[in-house]
Amino acid sequence: MPTKPFIRNSSLADIQSWLVENGFQKFRAQQIFEKIWKQGVQTFNQINNIPIALREALNVHFSIGAVQEKMRQVSTDGTIKVIFELHDGKIVEGVLIPAGTRMTACVSSQVGCSLDCKFCATGYLPRERNLESFEIFDQVKLIHQIALEKYDQKLSNIVYMGMGEPLLNYKNVVNSVKQLTDEHKWGLSPKRITLSTSGITKMIKKLADEDLNVNLALSLHAANDEKRSAIMPINDSNNLTDLSAAMQYWVGKTGIRPTLEYCVIADTNAEEEEAIELVKFAKQFPCKINLIEYNPISFADFDKANVEKIENFAAILQRHNLIVNVRRSRGKDIDAACGQLAGKQD
Ligand code: SF4
Repeated sequence: MPTKPFIRNSSLADIQSWLVENGFQKFRAQQIFEKIWKQGVQTFNQINNIPIALREALNVHFSIGAVQEKMRQVSTDGTIKVIFELHDGKIVEGVLIPAGTRMTACVSSQVGCSLDCKFCATGYLPRERNLESFEIFDQVKLIHQIALEKYDQKLSNIVYMGMGEPLLNYKNVVNSVKQLTDEHKWGLSPKRITLSTSGITKMIKKLADEDLNVNLALSLHAANDEKRSAIMPINDSNNLTDLSAAMQYWVGKTGIRPTLEYCVIADTNAEEEEAIELVKFAKQFPCKINLIEYNPISFADFDKANVEKIENFAAILQRHNLIVNVRRSRGKDIDAACGQLAGKQD
C-alpha cells in the first residue's frame, strides 16, 4: 500500500476541507473532482486548470491509484480480455463481451479468490487483496473506452463476474456501484449492473437492504448440498436452505427477480436427476436460470456437457415453467470465458 491516501476515497466535502486547511481555494475541489472522476486523469499533473502549486501539493499528499491496461487479447468471436495492472503491480482481468446491441463489461472485485470453487481457474489463485472501489470503476471505464474504440458502442451492461467474490469485498463493491451510478462520476443506471455471488447468505440479505436497485446473480451450479459442497466448499457454511431463505429475502425486499447461474458440467451436475433438484430449488422464489456451457480449465479435470445433455436439461426446466436461457461460452480461445480468468499473460 502506498503511504499516501487515495484521493478517490475522499468525498467532495473531504477535498474541500483539505484545500481550505492547506491554504487553497475551496472551489478547486470541483475541478479536481471532475478531472479525477469524469475525465479519468492518471496523474495530478494532468489537471491543467488548477495552479501548479496545488498540483504539487496534491502529488505530495495523495495518490490517484489509476488502473492501467497491461495487455489485451481478442477472441475470434470478438470477446476482448484485458489484463489490468494495479498501483501495486498486482494483476486482475476484465472482459468485454459484444453481443449484437449488448456490450457487456465483466469486471473483477478481488486479486485472486479465497473460495476455491473447484471448476474455476481463479479459485486456484490465492486471494491477495480486495480491490478498492475506484479500481473496479477504472476497469469499467477502460473497458468502456475499448468498446467505443473497437465497436463504436457504449457499454450496455456491467457484470461483477470476474476474479473474486464481490460480496466478500462488500464495502468497496457497494461503493463502486454508487460511483458508477453517481451522475457526477458516471451516471449509469443500476438496472444495467449485475452483482454475482457464490452465495454468501448474510451479505445477500445486507445487499437487499441497501436499496441499490442492481441485479443479483447466484452462482449455483448444483442444487443438492452434497454435490454443491463437493464443487463449491462455500456451501458447507452457506447451504441451500440458507441460500433459499436469503434469495426469498432478496426478492421480498427488492422485487428484483434474481438469476441462477448453472454451468453444466459432464458427470457432475448434468443429469435429469440434477435438473429436477434444480427445479425444486428454483421453485422456492421467482427467478431466471442461465445454463452456461462449461469451459474446461487446466487446473481441474472437469469437462463440459455435450449439447444434447444441455438441451435435455433445459427442456426439463422449461417443462416446469421456469425461465431458462442457454448461454454459449464466449472468448474461450483466449481464456476469457466464465471461470477461466487466472491472470495468465501468455
Ligand atoms: S467462481 Fe467466483 S467465488 Fe468461486 S473461486 Fe471462482 S472467482 Fe471465486
